[in-house]
Amino acid sequence: MRMYSTMLLAVLAAATTLSEACFAETPAPVAVKVTVVRAGKLVDVISGRLLSDQIIVIENERIKSVGPADTAAIPAGAEVIDLSKATVLPGLIDVHTHLTSDPTIHGYKSLGVSNIRAALYGARAARVTLEAGFTSVRNVGADGFGDVALRDAINDGEIPGPRMLVSAIPLGIKGGHCDENLLPADFDFTAKGVADGPWPARAKVREMVKYGADLIKICASGGVLSKGDTPGAQQYTLEEMKAIVEEAHKLGRKVAAHAHGTSSIRDAILAGVDSIEHASLVDEEGIKLARERGTFFSMDIYNDDYILSEGEKVGFLPESLAKERAIGQLQRDNFRKAWKGGVRMAFGTDAGVYPHGDNARQFAYMVQYGMTPMDAIRAATINSAELMGWKDSVGSVSAGKFADLIAVDGDPLQDVTRLTKVAFVMKGGQVVKKQ
Ligand SMILES: [Zn+2]
Repeated sequence: MRMYSTMLLAVLAAATTLSEACFAETPAPVAVKVTVVRAGKLVDVISGRLLSDQIIVIENERIKSVGPADTAAIPAGAEVIDLSKATVLPGLIDVHTHLTSDPTIHGYKSLGVSNIRAALYGARAARVTLEAGFTSVRNVGADGFGDVALRDAINDGEIPGPRMLVSAIPLGIKGGHCDENLLPADFDFTAKGVADGPWPARAKVREMVKYGADLIKICASGGVLSKGDTPGAQQYTLEEMKAIVEEAHKLGRKVAAHAHGTSSIRDAILAGVDSIEHASLVDEEGIKLARERGTFFSMDIYNDDYILSEGEKVGFLPESLAKERAIGQLQRDNFRKAWKGGVRMAFGTDAGVYPHGDNARQFAYMVQYGMTPMDAIRAATINSAELMGWKDSVGSVSAGKFADLIAVDGDPLQDVTRLTKVAFVMKGGQVVKKQ
């Protein structure tokens, strides 16, 4: 045995020497692409200040340095991108998208769309979203793992799109918001994410992780766009949500909870979820709990406009329109209360309910309901990066992070609607859009 071990070690040592020798004979050329961006103005989301005349040096896909133009040296041979007349910001982040959902197909019309067709639609939505300046998104709900395929195709460079974290299929109770309730019992159809009870719910978490989920999405309450349920009514129990959160966290996945109703928001926070989506009917207790526990809110306060103006045309059920009319304004008012109450805000819009690429329209509402433009921009950059677990790689223009940059004309800190007209987008050092 000992003899065998010695021989094995000798063979391994020889193999190592051989591979080192091969490596030494053919040194791999390490090409470093250096790009320099001249920024007339730069929104520094970390200090909360607007900086003038900055030089951003990029090596391959990451930012090497950021500094004032009068002291920074431009490396020889660098490609220079002149944005000296524009305002540069970090790439924006939307933590609540449905890239595989077509906003013109809702309600019964959606039953005719296969999961494969939805994934192909998602390829278009991913490009449109990236070109609108959103260089990272969290996709929180897609049927049939279309979001996993989309993320992988983007990461493999096959199609353009934002960096993605995906939840795969959302978990929920039978007959709840995350089930499919459009068909009568004759069809005997239940959505793939349905799991009732703590252990079936744990098993469903494991299944989503097995097939590629980066995070877990659950439906803690009823919803607006589903049939036969009530947004204010709790669906998952505290016991079920505790089991889901424990299982997901154990496997290194965060949990996003769809929760409109007051008690569902409270119980989801108590169960330890990482973000509350919608948070429409939050009360003082929910706000206090979220503040104390650092739970992020992701409140989609733009899309009511689209649902109510386009709703009938795109197939929303009459009951969905009624539910939206009942809680849309309450959600906006509660956004103001939650922000004033010290809740950490991410930027989530429910893109896919409304047209992809219009994500930045929500900024104006966040400002109208109590944020400064800088607060709103921070929600869509450093805050959302933190919620995604990516604060060391995206969310600010800082040395060491991915070179995900956008630029707009004028000053978005004076007029936040400037962010709806992004003129330049760079993702990982590659120019995606330049006007
Ligand atoms: Zn959603």
